[in-house]
Amino acid sequence: MEELHSETPQTEPEPAPKIIGLTGGIGSGKTTVARFIEEFGFPVYYSDDRAKTIVNESEDLKIKIKELLGEDSYDENGLYDRKFVADKVFNNRDLLQQLNEIIHPAVKIDFENWVRKQSKYLVFKETALLFELKLNRQCYKSLLVTAEDNIRIKRVMDRDYKTYREVETVMEKQMPERDKIKMADCIIYNNTNLEDLKEQTEKVIFSIE
Ligand code: ATP
Repeated sequence: MEELHSETPQTEPEPAPKIIGLTGGIGSGKTTVARFIEEFGFPVYYSDDRAKTIVNESEDLKIKIKELLGEDSYDENGLYDRKFVADKVFNNRDLLQQLNEIIHPAVKIDFENWVRKQSKYLVFKETALLFELKLNRQCYKSLLVTAEDNIRIKRVMDRDYKTYREVETVMEKQMPERDKIKMADCIIYNNTNLEDLKEQTEKVIFSIE
């Protein structure tokens, strides 16, 4: 009887990459850290940016969002009207939650498809609401970027030409830093300069096993 054997050598399937959730409050520096991580050769999925793209690409999402918030959620060119939507949900927790329940599952699927295409042993998922949405439970580790409130406010004022009070109002609606610090596996304190931030980033990401 002929012996069964494979012509091509069997290769072990690549292990799935470990997912590191990268987060931080407004102006903490998480996007800056994400860019450094990319410079160090690791892929980063930008959840909020992808969400902004997906709401324009998915017909299914368009229908659901219009049903929830009205036809004006999309402008005359069929593009998602972020300002309109933000104004609608700003002081309405219930509507915001319903909107998130539409958008987040779509981002989750998009992320899973993205992860499948990655070949590095670590991948990073930048998400502002990592802890709030308990997405850290779906990650191997969480990495928090944090800085003192005053520093964060000043950086956002410079970046977005906002007033102190405007930034503070957004900050007050976010989960307190002390709660995030308790939950995070790794923490980068971004209170000094970009050089220090990059050094800390390098140390943290290469120490993740
Ligand atoms: P948001 O959630 O508001 O988008 P973020 O957490 O992504 O903010 P960044 O955009 O990375 O924060 O940083 C906020 C601003 O502060 C940016 O203009 C950035 O260039 C600047 N910044 C971040 N870290 C430092 C630092 N260590 N020294 C000087 N400027 C910094």
